[in-house]
Amino acid sequence: MKPKIGIYGFSGCWGEQIVILNCEDELLDIFGAVDIVDFLGGSSVNDTESRLLIAFVEGSIANAREEASLRKIRERTDLLIACGSCACFGGVAAMDARAPRAEVIKQVYGMNGPAGSWDIGPHRPLSDFVKVDLCIPGCPIEKTEFLRVVSSLLNGDAPVMPEYPVCVECKMKENECLLLRGLPCAGPVTRAGCDARCPSYNIACVGCRGPVEEANMSSLENVLQQKKFTLDEIKRKLRTFAAPVMDKMENRG
Ligand code: SF4
Ligand code: SF4
Repeated sequence: MKPKIGIYGFSGCWGEQIVILNCEDELLDIFGAVDIVDFLGGSSVNDTESRLLIAFVEGSIANAREEASLRKIRERTDLLIACGSCACFGGVAAMDARAPRAEVIKQVYGMNGPAGSWDIGPHRPLSDFVKVDLCIPGCPIEKTEFLRVVSSLLNGDAPVMPEYPVCVECKMKENECLLLRGLPCAGPVTRAGCDARCPSYNIACVGCRGPVEEANMSSLENVLQQKKFTLDEIKRKLRTFAAPVMDKMENRG
């Protein structure tokens, strides 16, 4: 019997599910190896009860309804993989997590916006609610990284995720450093795995894969000062995708 897989989306843009559906050349191989039994984004007929080997979960959690659904998924799966920066770090919707919700709603919709109660609170990463076995970061995830994770798990291996910054991949590609050219690139403190996608097109990294573990902020600050930038500019970029995680890092000091 083939292992059963579920693919889910909470608060997010469904970008990860589109990346998965866009694995056109590889989809037949995936379908040959697993049964995707519960995937609302790909099928209107779903098995919402049976035991799963892996649940891939996209999006952040913003209310009790989403939290209850996430907990139910956790109970029925051996492995729960957070897919994308919303699921891993809170994502774009969590950018204003510290602001009062009423203030955020007023900013978004204006004084004449919708009245009444909203069943939506600050957006939080999945790991604030349940055990997460692995994070695949990105906004959206990289197709090649997703396929590598799937094949490792199906082989019974622990996927190896990059633990170094985007700069390493950028150097491997022999790109000219944008930071040294005067662009505020977040590559030194952002998780690798995108093959330095943006700097390879002369676009400064905005940190969509979240902060790398043990990001060397003080070393970056020195380089930034030489270029007349501030560390706050880079932190603001990272907060766009990972504000709850940045808050925890700052609280740890
Ligand atoms: S361009 Fe950005 S990612 Fe590339 S080496 Fe410079 S700082 Fe690092
Ligand atoms: S270079 Fe930075 S912003 Fe661009 S895809 Fe990679 S992590 Fe995201």
